[in-house]
Amino acid sequence: MISESMVTLTFYGNLIDLLKKVYRQGIVQYALTRRASIKDIIESLNIPHTEVGKLIVQGQEADFDYIPSKEVEIHVYPMTDRVLASLPSPLWREHWDFDRFMVDINALKLARNLRIAGINTTIVPEYDLIDIGMLATEQARVLLTRNRQLLKCSTVIYGQLLCSEDHIEQFNEVVSRFRLKSHFQPFSRCLNCNGLLKSVAKEDIEHLLEPLTKKYYTIFKRCEHCQTIYWHGSHMHHMQAILDQIDL
Ligand SMILES: [Zn+2]
Repeated sequence: MISESMVTLTFYGNLIDLLKKVYRQGIVQYALTRRASIKDIIESLNIPHTEVGKLIVQGQEADFDYIPSKEVEIHVYPMTDRVLASLPSPLWREHWDFDRFMVDINALKLARNLRIAGINTTIVPEYDLIDIGMLATEQARVLLTRNRQLLKCSTVIYGQLLCSEDHIEQFNEVVSRFRLKSHFQPFSRCLNCNGLLKSVAKEDIEHLLEPLTKKYYTIFKRCEHCQTIYWHGSHMHHMQAILDQIDL
């Protein structure tokens, strides 16, 4: 019988919840049956690389290209706001501003919440044959999705797996990891297209307003891109209601 080398991986923090139930103690004995990078090994255990903040092998920080070839102990720590705030690191060499996002179509309400807060947020295009990871990376956008497979693509650099199905909780997850609160500029972005909103004089747009809107409201903003008009009334109250629900 050919003896196989075993690698012991110990996972920490919320990474344990992402493992299959059988590994819920956080420790995995992994048989080295093929030459594989640590990125491949971790992702075969269903954890996208975007969720890993630090790797320690034999007391040293390692990167995703590391290929275990003998019995070693690997400690896998989660991505956190602290890790991001102290970049670059051996694992994460690129330092982004982390204030631009691309949201998958499985989390459209999250995209809306981010735009309400004034965060630059695009949505993954709905056509095939596009490398979504490449697109997000080219634009230095953090990819936000509930799809683990998508985050495993090597073209994705920074991303976040959305753990909750609830859009307010998702918003909290993202705001917390990327320390977004200081970037908030509520009511500065169009909810439809991500364009910037600019103040506009009522007389310039009066002809476009419904009679009641014209009668009751005086302060207006217009999207520079798609021309949607917003006013300090029901729209703004609705936006504020969303921001008020967020537990920051
Ligand atoms: Zn717009």
